[in-house]
Amino acid sequence: MSEGPIVIIGAGQAAAQAIASLRQGGFDGAITLIGDEAALPYQRPPLSKAYMKGEFEESRLYFRPAAWYEDQNIKLTLGQRATAIDRDAGRVRLEDGGGADYDKLIIATGARPRRCPVDGADLKGVHDLRTLADVERIRPQMIKGRKIVIVGAGYIGLEAAAVARQMGLDVTVLEMADRVLARVTSPVISEFYETVHKAEGVDIRTGARLASFKGDNGALAAAVLENGEEIAADLALIGIGILPNAELAEEAGVECRDGIVVDEDARTSDPDIFAAGDCARRPLVHYGRDGRLESVHNAIEQGKLAAAAILGQPRPKEDCPWFWSDQYDLKLQIAGLSAGYDDIVLRGDPASRKFAAFYLKDGVLIAADAVSAAPEFMMAKKMIMAKARPDAAQLADPSVSMKEIAAGAG
Ligand SMILES: Cc1cc2nc3c(=O)[nH]c(=O)nc-3n(C[C@H](O)[C@H](O)[C@H](O)COP(=O)(O)OP(=O)(O)OC[C@H]3O[C@@H](n4cnc5c(N)ncnc54)[C@H](O)[C@@H]3O)c2cc1C
Repeated sequence: MSEGPIVIIGAGQAAAQAIASLRQGGFDGAITLIGDEAALPYQRPPLSKAYMKGEFEESRLYFRPAAWYEDQNIKLTLGQRATAIDRDAGRVRLEDGGGADYDKLIIATGARPRRCPVDGADLKGVHDLRTLADVERIRPQMIKGRKIVIVGAGYIGLEAAAVARQMGLDVTVLEMADRVLARVTSPVISEFYETVHKAEGVDIRTGARLASFKGDNGALAAAVLENGEEIAADLALIGIGILPNAELAEEAGVECRDGIVVDEDARTSDPDIFAAGDCARRPLVHYGRDGRLESVHNAIEQGKLAAAAILGQPRPKEDCPWFWSDQYDLKLQIAGLSAGYDDIVLRGDPASRKFAAFYLKDGVLIAADAVSAAPEFMMAKKMIMAKARPDAAQLADPSVSMKEIAAGAG
């Protein structure tokens, strides 16, 4: 077991979990948390959901109150960027010239929004959606009757579109792929969400390429498409994906490949340095490959893995990856990773707004998207990890319970 000191760079979801697991696991040495945001560690999912709508109190965003960190003797260095890792000295350098010495280091720097490479992206009224500070800038502009253009129809873009519609804004979503959610789900789920948003009055434009933003006195006035069409806009949100914050590790000579490469214990190529959350490329043992996951579940799992490895405790069992997205009254729950599926089985009618899509590969269940269908989601998680081979006809028949299907799956 390390006797510390332990330093964590990045004060988000993975860091919050790592700290809790280290203390719960009996580590009573020094822990320093370095975060470039001013806020205490907080959860991001409500930022594009209830918090954006003003229906979620700010205090509920924080994992723990300030007093908890004091009680637990955690040194908080917030509003301060880590600028370099000196591996020979075992020291993290800070932007104010100071530093923090480590015996073990956890990099939990998350990811940053991909920049929109068009003219006018720096105009007043064009926003990213990643941090609490972003939402504080966006929310006062979310006024009924205003026009918002959302660039990118991924989960965050569509969640923001739903909130904006519910707040009475005039919403246009621009997506350059030929369907919404193209990067993350199957055509049947894309079609369902496109239909839902259109019925709510969102102007969804697929196959639409943004050429530039046009301003008026420095403030956003319109989004201009490549075909020359101009869409009037009072504000715009960019949701075109994220890039891992791996530069600190890379510059320190730690192996990186679209993320900081870690092993099953969240350990990097340097045995004293761990990486967790959106910034890490991890083995996805169940799927026989590696990958970078961008989810709360992944950040929590890796925070636990790093803490266990540092404490010399047994590695926690790999859980089924999962994610969720709230849009209007619909709760989408995603179990597993669907990439590479060769068969898809639909259970229930999308028109009923309660259904699930199951993804199979060579007959084995690898993932499921459950729309307002919690039992399907719960059972799918178990079946995925058991590499179950459910009977497709039974799966497609909502009169056969998920329990029965799981029991009969080889
Ligand atoms: C709007 C929104 C909605 C989301 N909704 C969902 C959802 O519904 N379900 C779900 O599962 N996931 C959701 N996610 C994703 C989820 O929030 C992330 O996967 C999770 O926060 C990743 O945790 P992390 O600790 O890796 O990174 P983060 O929580 O991003 O924390 C990293 C922190 O490190 C800081 N940092 C970076 N570089 C430095 C540096 N050099 N020095 C100091 N600090 C640094 C960053 O500023 C940040 O504060 C959502 C994300 C967003 C933005």
